[in-house]
Amino acid sequence: MNIIGFGECMLEIAGAPLALRFGGDTLNTCLYLSRLGPRHGHRVAYATALGDDELSAELLRSWQEEGIDCRLVSRLPGGTPGLYLVTTSPGGERYFHYWRANSPVRGYFAEPGTPLEQSLVRDHWDVFYLSGISLAILPPAGRERLLACARQARERGMAVIFDNNYRPRLCPAGEARHWHDRLAPLVTLALLTEEDEQSLYPDEATDALIARWQGAGCRELVLKRGAAPCLIALGRERFSQAPVPVASVVDTCAAGDSFAAGYLSARLAGEAPAVAARLGHELAGIVIQHPGAIIPLDAMFSLL
Ligand code: ADP
Repeated sequence: MNIIGFGECMLEIAGAPLALRFGGDTLNTCLYLSRLGPRHGHRVAYATALGDDELSAELLRSWQEEGIDCRLVSRLPGGTPGLYLVTTSPGGERYFHYWRANSPVRGYFAEPGTPLEQSLVRDHWDVFYLSGISLAILPPAGRERLLACARQARERGMAVIFDNNYRPRLCPAGEARHWHDRLAPLVTLALLTEEDEQSLYPDEATDALIARWQGAGCRELVLKRGAAPCLIALGRERFSQAPVPVASVVDTCAAGDSFAAGYLSARLAGEAPAVAARLGHELAGIVIQHPGAIIPLDAMFSLL
């Protein structure tokens, strides 16, 4: 399986003492998928834009060391990566502060024929992975182009996999609904944080949520519900799978992203939904016991 993800990766300053790392929803999923690649036989490419500065070069080097194919990364002159800082209140509440308004990825589609668009026409890929954040960070013309990429992927027989990841700070709910509704008919598998979906569609019951996505044509849905069992809807079948109990949660950053990587890694290799959900939970359960979005490789050694 050859997988492409599109989105934004930022520099991350978090932890005590504060440490400089990196993270971003689709990048987190792609990186964990890349780590699981040797186990399940897939390869991962990431499409985004970075600047031409030393920090961008460092990000690129780190992704390449993780085995990610970076040929679809554009380097925009004068750009520098976005940044987020995580602070913690004395009560343990975490706050995210973002500096991403000038992130290079916002200009990814500013030029015609981006590396992603060219590659979707030219090369063989099996899966296109994007999220609500991938859409939300782009200007409207870029969102249209990203939708066109998803359409192109479907026309070429690829799976289109979407994680809703709704962030009100990036996009008002009505606008997000508009773009998610337009993308939905192109999505073959949706990973949905139930809480995010409820912010977008208040008062919608779970059955109605599933009916809406299935009505749009989406065959497989995974509802992520934090510490509660996830719910999988595959045609008329329903499965639920409880997470691994975690006694001390250190940082839930990238919980959903790492769950997605575990689930997709197994599913794309032909495993049953329940087996895939178990791997998703196992990986997310490890990730939330470590600070930051990306945990050290040896912490997930048991899953490789
Ligand atoms: P998101 O990060 O997208 O909001 P969730 O909060 O639903 O996603 O969490 C994703 C996954 O992370 C869950 O399916 C579960 O595997 C794991 N997880 C999250 N919180 C906990 C917790 N308190 N205990 C155990 N597992 C958890």
